Amino acid sequence: MHKLQCTQCGTTYSGKSGAYQCAQCGSGLTISYDYQKIAEQLTRSELASGATGLWKYRKLLPVEDGADVVTLNEGGTRLHKCDRIAQSVGLDDLYVKDETGNPTGTYKDRPASVGVTVAQLMGAKIVAIASDGNAAPSVAAYAAKAGLQCFTFMPETTPLERLIQVQMYGAPVITLDGSVNECIDLVEKGRQLYGWHHMSTAGPVNPYQREGSKTIAYEICEQLEWQVPEWVAAPVGGGGLLAALWQGFIELKTLGLIDRLPRMLAAQAAGCAPLVRAFKAGDPPSKIRRWEHPNTVATTIEVPFPLDGAMALEAVRDSGGTAVDVEDHEILAMTRQLSSTEGILVEPTGAASMAAVAKAKKAGTVGNGMIVSVATGTGLKTLSLFASLWGMGKRRNAVKPEDTDVAAEHNHAKLEIEREVLTWAQSIHPSAAIVHL
Ligand SMILES: [Zn+2]
Repeated sequence: MHKLQCTQCGTTYSGKSGAYQCAQCGSGLTISYDYQKIAEQLTRSELASGATGLWKYRKLLPVEDGADVVTLNEGGTRLHKCDRIAQSVGLDDLYVKDETGNPTGTYKDRPASVGVTVAQLMGAKIVAIASDGNAAPSVAAYAAKAGLQCFTFMPETTPLERLIQVQMYGAPVITLDGSVNECIDLVEKGRQLYGWHHMSTAGPVNPYQREGSKTIAYEICEQLEWQVPEWVAAPVGGGGLLAALWQGFIELKTLGLIDRLPRMLAAQAAGCAPLVRAFKAGDPPSKIRRWEHPNTVATTIEVPFPLDGAMALEAVRDSGGTAVDVEDHEILAMTRQLSSTEGILVEPTGAASMAAVAKAKKAGTVGNGMIVSVATGTGLKTLSLFASLWGMGKRRNAVKPEDTDVAAEHNHAKLEIEREVLTWAQSIHPSAAIVHL
């Protein structure tokens, strides 16, 4: 039901070919479907009656009916209304699409499920992936489920939890003193030498994975009972997520399931913002330049050259959207705000899009319409980073928060109560100490 087409020379390939790249020119491929036929079969009521999760959208995924899929029950994630942040930012209708609830704690489980399924159907024995910390654990987990050997390549700055997570799924980690782009280049060389199936979530090396990520757009519309948000915000590292979301919304409109499209807000860290720079300069998508000396606390979007950046920039422009860069201190403040006022613990990248929403609201770029911000992954995988940033976990005999932006939100009344409770505990157990900030 699907076919592949080269993004450069236009050569088409059948879905059964299992092609990763164009055999004529080596460029990336995009996937399309028989939308007319799908529109006859896929209705709102049929979707409402089906099971939740990624594979309920199977008609819009590049795997034929009846074929076995590699799944850990990914997708079907929560959509939270965030009234406290909405109020502090001055918005009326704000949601977080909470991808932390996926099996390995990130939206990357969606592309991994699709990518590993296709690889297995093609008879893969070994898969390999370059990642800055979220996609590698995902692919390692799905490879484990499928019984495939997996190699992972990550920058040496990757937080420790992610390196451990990959090893727990049974895959070795090879780290490099380089960016994720160098890791992808290395896997591509390994593919040519060893015949690995390349699972990096970048369209030019693997066209199947974007199909998994686009299901986030389907779920957002379904969960909003087919209302379309005014804006959808997503962090941009390689650009694949934002491009996939846009593709998902376009497909829903093509199928007649929604009647209009949202505007896309691309969020990048100010320390690595090649797409925002191109957007602000009015550069064409083909002219996005590599970012020199990237440096941000949001390591999963520290991607110097976004391989899907052209597609993401087109999505921003075509949708009448915008691109916003946010400083590390803004990202971290929003990380704390999401966890301490909404109960959503995300990695810094997961807060970057919300920080960008707040900044865009302040600048008057976004209005009061409904906004959905995608939170990419769980903060449970960056606890060591939080501890190193804020000195968390140190026991103290007195209530004495550090003088940080974060401490500022800890108001005087709360501190008084904490002091009282600690003093009470110490009156019974003199060894009592408080672990605070
Ligand atoms: Zn081609």
